[in-house]
Amino acid sequence: MSRRKFIAGNWKMNNTNEEAIKLVSDLLEKVKNVTDKDIIVAPTFTTLSDVNKVLKSTNIKLAAQNMYFASSGAFTGQISTDMLKSVGCEYVILGHSECRTIFLETDELINKKVKAAIEAGLKPILCIGETLEEREKGITNDIVNNQTKKGYDGLSEEMAKNVILAYEPVWAIGTGKTATPQDADTVHKTIRQTLESIYSKNFAENTIIIYGGSMNENNADDLLNMPNIDGGLIGGAALVAEKFARIINYIAK
Ligand code: PEP
Repeated sequence: MSRRKFIAGNWKMNNTNEEAIKLVSDLLEKVKNVTDKDIIVAPTFTTLSDVNKVLKSTNIKLAAQNMYFASSGAFTGQISTDMLKSVGCEYVILGHSECRTIFLETDELINKKVKAAIEAGLKPILCIGETLEEREKGITNDIVNNQTKKGYDGLSEEMAKNVILAYEPVWAIGTGKTATPQDADTVHKTIRQTLESIYSKNFAENTIIIYGGSMNENNADDLLNMPNIDGGLIGGAALVAEKFARIINYIAK
């Protein structure tokens, strides 16, 4: 089974408009000839429109970092699927651990967003992952399987094909600590089994499952060479064009 590698940069709350344009222009220059991987950047809402102008007709695609499930109305501070599509987004990150822990997003809310995104034609990058406490209790598999089931709840197999799953152990995000390639691969395998139990073997084998959590230019090769790791969701290292480009051009063994 060969799944295409999927490398996404989550810029989080970083970069003014000018900085975002410079970063994406520098990145484009370095990876413009890459055709064998999906490359995605997720800038802040305020910079999506101008970043999209730089990326038009290129090999880098645009993601938003979140959205709300309603299509319009009295939801101060929120962004709809149509708004994201109007500035060129094809993907949207949902259920990031920072949204779960800081902004108290629940599995139920995230599931509503996943459904709304797919119905609108956006592809969700659905994040799941255990905290350090949960890992130490030995319940990593329970947590990620539960988050997977709740995230996909009510989705037909046809709808679910649009989801990219991101396994992001919370203790590894922005901390410099990374899951070992073997540990991450084992969790990805477990997630694939869960997907098989919900849908089918074929579905599970075709689902893109990426890893996130302090992936950088030094550890990416080992992580991306694991059989169940189909790419990365990268925070810190995606803010430096050279580092992100190096990850995109990882050395395959
Ligand atoms: C993330 O934001 O999803 C992430 C993995 O961040 P970092 O690479 O900085 O750990």
